[in-house]
Formats: sequence, C-alpha cells, structure tokens
Amino acid sequence: MSCSGNTTVPENPAVREKEFETIYIRKPVGVCQLCEDYSARESVKPVAIMCCEGSCLRGEIARQASNILCHSLLRDKTVRVCLGGAFTKDTGQRNLVRNAPQVIAMEGCFLKCATRMMQGVLEGLEPDVVITDSLIEFDRELFSVDEMPEVEIMRLALDVAEQMAAKLGEPTLARAAGEACCACS
Ligand code: SF4
Repeated sequence: MSCSGNTTVPENPAVREKEFETIYIRKPVGVCQLCEDYSARESVKPVAIMCCEGSCLRGEIARQASNILCHSLLRDKTVRVCLGGAFTKDTGQRNLVRNAPQVIAMEGCFLKCATRMMQGVLEGLEPDVVITDSLIEFDRELFSVDEMPEVEIMRLALDVAEQMAAKLGEPTLARAAGEACCACS
C-alpha cells in the first residue's frame, strides 16, 4: 500500500489550473433508501474499500477483487463503498469514506481515479492506495475485458483479493475464496 501524495490545492492560479480541474456535479433528486440503509448498517466496519471500477481489464480486475475481499474474504471487517454514490452525493456512502478508521483505494492502474475523485469531495482524504495491476502478472499489452477469458480475470481478481486480505492481517479461508469465484461478477 502507498499514500496518494500531496493533495493540497495550490494557491497560484496558473499552477492550480494546470494541476486541477473544477467541475460542477448536479445534486441528486430523491434518496435511495436502500443505499442509505446499507451505508448505516455497514458503517460499523473499520475498513472502507473504494474501488476505481474502471471498465477496462485493470478496472474490472480491481472491481471483482474488491467484491471478493468485502463480500467473502473479509466481510466482517471491510465495507464495499459505491464509488459513484460516494462521489456524487453527500449522504451515506460518502460518510462511509469520511468516517472509516481506515480507507483503502483499490485502483486498477497508476491513474488512481478513485483516490483523485474522492479527494475532490473530501478535503484531506489520504487513503491507503493499492495499485492492483502491480500485484499480478499478466500481459501488459492487454487493455479491454474482452481480451482476456473471464475465468482468467476472476483468477487474477481472487489473487489480488487474497493478497489484500493477507495485508489486512486476516487468514485467507479456502472456502470463502471458493465462494467468491461464484459471486464476484
Ligand atoms: S484507475 Fe485506471 S483502471 Fe481504474 S478507472 Fe482509472 S484509468 Fe481506469
């Protein structure tokens, strides 16, 4: 795991414009009560996992790995954050990231989209960043999910999730891993 670097917004306008982008996000109309209930229920867990969830191969491996980690291997310790919900609305999902004792960003690649997104809405956020494609061996020329068999994507995701579980100090349970293979998409 690594830190995400200095996120202080520069005072110099030229530097700020070069290094940062300003956006306006329309606030949602209405509330998803299922989402709010989930967030409240899961807020007791000590580790919030936010994942970039990119649509490319690297993002897909990170997405499946975060599901395996949060829903199978370390289900009592980790909560899977809805990145889009946390980024675009200041309700329960964002509170999961805001209030968790530990926040981990699982990033498909070095661009660290989840980290940069959430730092835009939570000033001072410094998650532990995991670049998931650096944890696994695969053909670096591949980009799209349709360039790798689904079973291989799942195998790599399980590999990432098991490494993450080990880093978080929990034993990897073979049964849980087996369950994860069937439930990670
Ligand atoms: S971190 Fe990489 S894989 Fe993830 S969304 Fe960003 S560009 Fe895509």
